[in-house]
Amino acid sequence: MRYSAWQILKQGLTGNTGWQPHWRSPEPKAEYDVVVIGGGGHGLSTAYYLAKEYGITNVAVLEKGYIGGGNVGRNTTIVRANYGIDGNSEFYSHSLKLWEDMEQELNYNTMMSQRGIINLFHSDGQRDAFAKRGNMMISQGDDAIMLGRDEIREMLPYISYDNPRFPVYGGLYHPRGGTARHDAVAWGFARGADQRGVDIIQQCEVTGIDIENGVVRGVQTSRGPIRAKKVAIVVAGRSSQVAAMAGMRLPIESHVLQAFVTEGLKPCVDHVISFGMGHFYLSQSDKGGLVFGGDIDFYASYASRGNLHMAEHVMEAGMALMPMIGRAKVLRSWGGIMDMTPDGSPFIDRTQTEGLFINCGWCYGGFKAVPGSGKCFAHLMATGDHHPAASKLRLDRLARGHVIDEEATGSQHNLH
Ligand SMILES: Cc1cc2nc3c(=O)[nH]c(=O)nc-3n(C[C@H](O)[C@H](O)[C@H](O)COP(=O)(O)OP(=O)(O)OC[C@H]3O[C@@H](n4cnc5c(N)ncnc54)[C@H](O)[C@@H]3O)c2cc1C
Repeated sequence: MRYSAWQILKQGLTGNTGWQPHWRSPEPKAEYDVVVIGGGGHGLSTAYYLAKEYGITNVAVLEKGYIGGGNVGRNTTIVRANYGIDGNSEFYSHSLKLWEDMEQELNYNTMMSQRGIINLFHSDGQRDAFAKRGNMMISQGDDAIMLGRDEIREMLPYISYDNPRFPVYGGLYHPRGGTARHDAVAWGFARGADQRGVDIIQQCEVTGIDIENGVVRGVQTSRGPIRAKKVAIVVAGRSSQVAAMAGMRLPIESHVLQAFVTEGLKPCVDHVISFGMGHFYLSQSDKGGLVFGGDIDFYASYASRGNLHMAEHVMEAGMALMPMIGRAKVLRSWGGIMDMTPDGSPFIDRTQTEGLFINCGWCYGGFKAVPGSGKCFAHLMATGDHHPAASKLRLDRLARGHVIDEEATGSQHNLH
């Protein structure tokens, strides 16, 4: 079914009885050309692009839980291309362009809202660093505007300008950045993949990877063995555990990242804002809740809920930036498991096992990568060549001494 205004009218007039499920629930087949492990944003977009761009439709996405239950439905929905380092710059720039066409591409309302992102700076040193980053964004073909304190005050009247510890000097404005409805993105890609013949199989946990003489042969699952010519590991926070099934030890640590939402307020925050003196960022959802977050909990964990020390840290940063937030009641907090790499940048690569591919290490930022990652990963799996936008995101880069360290914090997982 194609969604349109006409369809809404027709269904409305006929009792809304004609809507169809977004995707089928098929039984797993004994064999596929490609098995994608993980039905998050990256796994679903990989399957979608395999089918759409390369005509590879004998594909199964195996998801141990339900579609949208992982990080793709837990993030704070920020989409941007404000990176400054080769490797990341071209990749996220490519991905943002795909976001801009996504709703037409998927015929699905992902509520993409390019409301603009402002990274605040609070010292001369930070201003220099953001000016450099802005120039790099512009040279990559993306948009970046340096704003002074007065311009920021006009756009963000609600933040504190009188805080003596964190004076606002200005901000780096990225107008094309914004937010999208996270679970709609998962549903849209799932529906698009299913329409092209991909089997989406929920409640199907991969428990083993079958390898013979260095060649992948399939997977063991909670619903029985499935043979496959190619297997893709796309399991975000569980990457180390699933890769270990193929005898691989990844340079990844898993950490929990929390997020928070307040009760619904009248529209007051028009942009996504990021505080330069603490890790705190915030936007307002379409329902009116202020959605915000900060750092990971800093210790390795597979728990998908965080601890109070980080909740306190995030609230403190929020209060320092915009004291009015203290008047709003926090409704919920939740957590997701992040696959943190030592340099903070991801991997899209083949492995030493023939036919086995891996896509992981998205750290804090994998939501905005969803379309770009799927497209580049599908390209690699279908053609055997790295997509030009992801050619530097290789597994062996650390062994080669080539880090893509955007934060310049050095090789330490929990600092990225
Ligand atoms: C609180 C929070 C805020 C965030 N905010 C942002 C943001 O604003 N912007 C941004 O760009 N990024 C953000 N991120 C990061 C982003 O959400 C992730 O990097 C991204 O979603 C990870 O990729 P995914 O969608 O494929 O992961 P997931 O949705 O986690 O998909 C992986 C799937 O693999 C499945 N799986 C695992 N093991 C197995 C197995 N053995 N067998 C079968 N299936 C398995 C899991 O159940 C899961 O559904 C945030 C993350 C969190 C937690």
